[in-house]
Order: sequence, then C-alpha cells, then structure tokens
Amino acid sequence: MRTAKGQRAIRLRIYGIRTAWDTVGDGEFFCPCCGGDRNYRRLTGRRRLTVLGLPLLARGSAGSVVECAACGTHFEPGTLDQPTTNRFSAMLREAVHAVTLAVLAAGGSTSRTVLETAAAVARDAGLDDCSQERLFTIVEVLAADTGSGDGTDPDAEACGAALAIELHETLKPLAPHLAVAGREALLLRGARVALADGPYTQAERQVLTTVGSALQLCPADTAKLLEAARTPS
Ligand SMILES: [Zn+2]
Repeated sequence: MRTAKGQRAIRLRIYGIRTAWDTVGDGEFFCPCCGGDRNYRRLTGRRRLTVLGLPLLARGSAGSVVECAACGTHFEPGTLDQPTTNRFSAMLREAVHAVTLAVLAAGGSTSRTVLETAAAVARDAGLDDCSQERLFTIVEVLAADTGSGDGTDPDAEACGAALAIELHETLKPLAPHLAVAGREALLLRGARVALADGPYTQAERQVLTTVGSALQLCPADTAKLLEAARTPS
C-alpha cells in the first residue's frame, strides 16, 4: 500500500516546474560568496510546467538573478550595487584627490610645505604619479578657470559652490561603502593638508566641513575631529 507521501513523490516525478535561464547581460561584480571580483551573468528565468520531464506550459517569469561565473551562486540584482574591489579602490583614490585639491584651492597652493604634504597624502592613497608640480598646476588651472584666487573676486563664491558640488559628487557614492572610521580617516587626510602651514583658515575649515557632510559625518563629529587634528597627541 502506497502512503500519501509516496504518491506525492511520484506525482512530482511526473509533473514538475523547470526554470529556463536566459542571459541578458554580463560584467564584473563583487561576489559575496567568493569574496572577490568575479565575472557575472545576469539571467532572467522562465518557469515551465514539465510533464515527464518535457516542458509543457509557461508558468510565468522567475525574475532576474545575477550568477557568479566562478562559484555559480545566484544573487538578487541588488548585489550589483556593491562596487568591485577595483572600483572601490579607484573611488577611494578619486576621493583623496578631490579632498586634497579642494583644500589646496581653499588657499594653500603657494606654500611649499602644504604642497609637499598634499603630494604625500595623495601618494599614500595610491596616486603614485601625483607630484607637487602636478597638484600646483591643477589648482592654478582651477583658479584661472573660475576666476577665484584673490579672495575679493565675486566668482570666488561660485568657485566654492562648484567645489562643494564636485566634493559631493565624488564622496557621496563612496560614503555608504565606507565604515565610519574610513570616512573619518578621509576627512583627517584633508585636515593634515590644511594644517601643514598652520591653523585652519576660514576657507579651509569651510571646505573640510563640506567634506564631512558629503561623507555623511554629523557636523558635531566633523568639528570634533578637526579640532582633535590640530592638537596631535
Ligand atoms: Zn562567486
């Protein structure tokens, strides 16, 4: 005598649902399962009712998944929001570059010490070809382009606004992928450049406050960090 369980097993062998996957895209992503940059395929699935192993009736879409080429694990498409390790490193380098330039543009590009510190900070972050001369040139070009530099120019404010937008555009996409300590370290790199030639100027403090806000640090924490950076223990 067959049990109900046995009958169900046989029915499942006769009828079944099979998902056919179509590749709709590919690329590189960070695989949470392998823990590294891997190739992926983006797949959309079509469910079919099978009878005796033969696909018979369409049973709707199985949605979209991302499949790791290395381990074969399927993930939600949202996994692609996480930057690859390569992309993340590039974002971090761009961020240090933007912060360094913004601090320099706020009024330190003529001091040798500040340029030296800025170049050292940039090289520490992996920008190997970032020399003092190069930083100086970029800041000069930025200043000439926006007409700022003497502090009395009405365009200087526009330059400040443009820099703030630039900082937000570079730092905002990075912030969610960095732990608080990482975001604070980035702010402190900027503080190190600003402090190379003495206490913060008002313009430097303003730029660093913008950096803190773009990095989603709370204003009080930013102020505290900037103060602590002035008096290294
Ligand atoms: Zn994988």
